[in-house]
Amino acid sequence: MKTVISAKLKLNTTPEQFHQLRATQLAYRDSLNFVSHYAFEHDKMSNKIALQDGTYHDLRARFHLPSQMACSVPRQVGATYKGLWTKVKKNAEDRKAGRTKKRYKGLDHAPTYVSPTLTYQYKKDYSFKTDNHVSILSLEGRVVVPYTGYNQHVALIQREAEIGAAKLWYDKPKKQFYLLVSLEIEIADPTPATHTGIVGVDVGVRYLAVTSTTRGDRAFHSGKKIVPKANHYARLRKRLQRKGTRSATRRLVVISGRERRLKADANHVVSKRIATRHPNSLIGLERLTDIRDRTKHKHGKHASKKQRKANAVYAKWSFAELQGMIAYKALMQSSMAIKVDANYTSQACPMCGHTCPENRPQKGLMFICQNCHYTLHADLLGAKNITMRMLLVRQDWTSTGILSECPDVSDKEAKAARLRRYAELRWSLDTSPSDLSRGI
Ligand SMILES: [Zn+2]
Repeated sequence: MKTVISAKLKLNTTPEQFHQLRATQLAYRDSLNFVSHYAFEHDKMSNKIALQDGTYHDLRARFHLPSQMACSVPRQVGATYKGLWTKVKKNAEDRKAGRTKKRYKGLDHAPTYVSPTLTYQYKKDYSFKTDNHVSILSLEGRVVVPYTGYNQHVALIQREAEIGAAKLWYDKPKKQFYLLVSLEIEIADPTPATHTGIVGVDVGVRYLAVTSTTRGDRAFHSGKKIVPKANHYARLRKRLQRKGTRSATRRLVVISGRERRLKADANHVVSKRIATRHPNSLIGLERLTDIRDRTKHKHGKHASKKQRKANAVYAKWSFAELQGMIAYKALMQSSMAIKVDANYTSQACPMCGHTCPENRPQKGLMFICQNCHYTLHADLLGAKNITMRMLLVRQDWTSTGILSECPDVSDKEAKAARLRRYAELRWSLDTSPSDLSRGI
């Protein structure tokens, strides 16, 4: 089985190389914004060939881009516009069908590129040299820079694992350049014999993640210290956005960066803990699209104060990023993350199967089964239900040899059939994979 990992290489630049790379990054970003305006003024066009024909000369003469980059800028802008047009059309359909009243405003102005992160294609505009040196394209031709990184990653590069595109990323607070290289690596095919542990992960606001295993191991990964801090930055950001002055905008960039890094750091810490705690395991993650349906709270003046607060926090945390990090780090521990349906994971009783919203009185902290009175911390309950669904996936895997990652999203019948099977699931005190097969 093949998988893609990202190697973070620290570029040990000379002051001169530093300035070359920074100038290249900024010129590239300015070019993106230049082409974006051009596209906007030409009927918000997304055709990359027409964009290239219209801007190539300027990109070369005004921004001094090498020809390779002068071609990739229009391509990137074209892709951005194409994506935005898709959203505009989808929104028009939704409004026509009465699904929403809001008009999508993504194409009211020319989209602006803020990040100066620059993408390089392997062997076209960057390549590896001997002795841990990498050659990168800049405005003034190629620069050859020594790099350092994880021994494991460096060894893969030297062995010429399948190397893909790379991103030149600038860490502004540290004034340091990194090259993020994607590598395709071969990992042993997972089998029921290699992946013996079963873990369910419930993500949420109160605890960023709660885990539960079939062997009774459980852990709460709190965001207690971080979430209030992130909220503080978010409130600050909102105030500055409203202000809209130039100095406020400058401050806004700083605050947004801090907020993003804070959240990414927390996601890194939690995902690493989960991955290292559960080697050789199947790790069940909720499919987030299901969660959004589940947490469709009221908005606006119909929402209670508590609901509005919950909505705000939910909107701000990147659970997709957290899950992505768990999946990535799991591979390094010979584990594997699998998405499972999230429907009713917060409402179903693992003891008697009774499923209803009233099992969560006042949507509170506790789950109390209205049928058998089984009581448990609500987040742990979510994790437990995911664990059981994961167990079902593993069982199917053992019996059919096929590991199915809850497949076709659009297939409603298949999903209904899965939900029926979940409804049959019961937790037993000594739930091991072989024991449970009797129960289902
Ligand atoms: Zn019950």
